[in-house]
Amino acid sequence: EKRKLSRIKSVTSATLDGTQVELLANIELPQEIGQARESGAMGVGLFRSEFLFLNRDNLPGEEEQFEAYSTVVQGMRGLPVIIRTFDLGADKNLKNTYRIAANPALGLRAIRMSLAEPAMFLTQLRAILRASSHGCARILIPMLSSSWEINQTLQMLEVAKQSLRDEKKPFDENIKIGSMIEIPAAALALDLFMKKLDFLSIGTNDLIQYTLAIDRVDETVAHLFDPLHPAVLWLLARIIQVAGKANVPVSICGEMAGDSKYTRLLLGMGLRQFSMYPAQLLTVKREILGSHIPSITRLTQKILRTHDSEKIHNLLLKLNS
Ligand code: PEP
Ligand code: MG
Repeated sequence: EKRKLSRIKSVTSATLDGTQVELLANIELPQEIGQARESGAMGVGLFRSEFLFLNRDNLPGEEEQFEAYSTVVQGMRGLPVIIRTFDLGADKNLKNTYRIAANPALGLRAIRMSLAEPAMFLTQLRAILRASSHGCARILIPMLSSSWEINQTLQMLEVAKQSLRDEKKPFDENIKIGSMIEIPAAALALDLFMKKLDFLSIGTNDLIQYTLAIDRVDETVAHLFDPLHPAVLWLLARIIQVAGKANVPVSICGEMAGDSKYTRLLLGMGLRQFSMYPAQLLTVKREILGSHIPSITRLTQKILRTHDSEKIHNLLLKLNS
């Protein structure tokens, strides 16, 4: 089985009707680039930078971050590497963290934390920018939800760029910056994000959590965490459609992208970029190679019009058969 899969590693990722589909890798540690390249990924779609905080109580400095980001950017040899800025919560033990969040999922986390700690944020942006001179780096912002946060973030990026220009340190002047779409408000106010950013990446893990009000780490409600909930499907289809019409690249980097049972449904919605753990990539690719988009569109539309969960599951089985 594994040997069979490895045979499609170097095959172009496209459907039977010739539609190209980009498959990218999610990584959490710089050491994982080997697996990412092995899987045949066309780049890193999500590099979760929080690993820099593992088992320590101080902040990683600019040099340490620069080393880590450069390792990945260089290791991917010119393929794009999307580096997500810290998705830290107030529950994490940051040095100098005096804030205790009543509800970490709704509290001072991710971009909110970065904007509240401008010195930390600038250090990270400078490190990413410097790494961008070693290959192709892009910046991804977690949990953006408002226009104010987008403006603040873009301003901070400009401050970081100017400081590097002043010091004559090289970086990619045209570095692309995108945002996670993982808060329902961001999905609903998509225009705002598309106007100001270069690309979008849908975080289904959090998007489902916040849409359905299901804590993603609470086992007592895990059975209610449903990627096929009609509200979730409607949001996903809408994001992909609206971004597609505006020619803004959109990917999914949540767990849903790496689960081959959803591959056809997402293709049918128009998704052309998937980011997942390297170990999942070839299984999803096999699904893509065997899919014919014109033949799945009608059933996808039918699923999107269906509100009964059991019917949706049955239609999905049919779509995948
Ligand atoms: C997500 O929310 O879907 C996502 C990809 O990010 P994380 O799982 O790191 O929150
Ligand atoms: Mg998330």
